[in-house]
Amino acid sequence: MSNLSLEEKLTDIRNRMDRACKKSDRNPNDVKLLLATKTVSAENINHTLALGETLIGESKVQELTEKFPLIRTEQAESHFIGHLQTNKVKKVIDYVTCIHSVDRLKLGNRLHRLLTESGNKLDILVQVNTSYEESKFGVAPDDALHLIKQLAKLDTLNIKGLMTIGKFSADPDEARKCFRLLKSIQEEVQAENIPRVEMDVLSMGMSGDLEIAIEEGSTMIRVGTAIFGERMYPDSYYWNEQKQVIDE
Ligand SMILES: *Cc1c(COP(=O)(O)O)cnc(C)c1O
Repeated sequence: MSNLSLEEKLTDIRNRMDRACKKSDRNPNDVKLLLATKTVSAENINHTLALGETLIGESKVQELTEKFPLIRTEQAESHFIGHLQTNKVKKVIDYVTCIHSVDRLKLGNRLHRLLTESGNKLDILVQVNTSYEESKFGVAPDDALHLIKQLAKLDTLNIKGLMTIGKFSADPDEARKCFRLLKSIQEEVQAENIPRVEMDVLSMGMSGDLEIAIEEGSTMIRVGTAIFGERMYPDSYYWNEQKQVIDE
């Protein structure tokens, strides 16, 4: 961790968001900040909530279930942003109000079955693999519309928009391409006027590329490192590890 306090780092992020909004002539109220809290202790999460933040996102089921009972969530909303195996859905749905990583029908069906049993509904985003990297999760861009049409038939799921992870590259245009692609899929879906499908949320942009994401239309950035410091594990621990698991 650098010696800036959590409060100063949050201020810094808010300033970066404001500058990016100004540059692209957007209203700062239209871009939400979600704190990506993987590996962050419940104590530090509570600290950021006490500073006025209201939106947190966990990436691992185990961390969610361990930390959640210790987090003061009365004022906050919790989302799930990591890859979700169908056999772990049950552990997640009681804790969160939105899942960003729905990328296959099997997961949608599983959510629908459990939500039907409990009589609840849930907001979801459809994750798209806009970088076409083997290692990343998400539905292929060409298949996104079809998946959304299938998911739209499951009336316990409120489809609110799309999520993606931009390509990591020294060339910022690589990430920009990903964000533009997500935006174009949003427009493609909107043009279809699918009943019950809202497409207002674009969850894209992280510590390193949030400005580009905002310029390209992000309505929710997910920030971890720039606020909480470097993590002990590489992101591949969160993003690739289960890619080997046959879950379809
Ligand atoms: C960890 C994570 C983030 C935050 O990434 P940083 O680079 O630490 O800001 C955003 N989205 C997802 C899905 C993540 O797993």
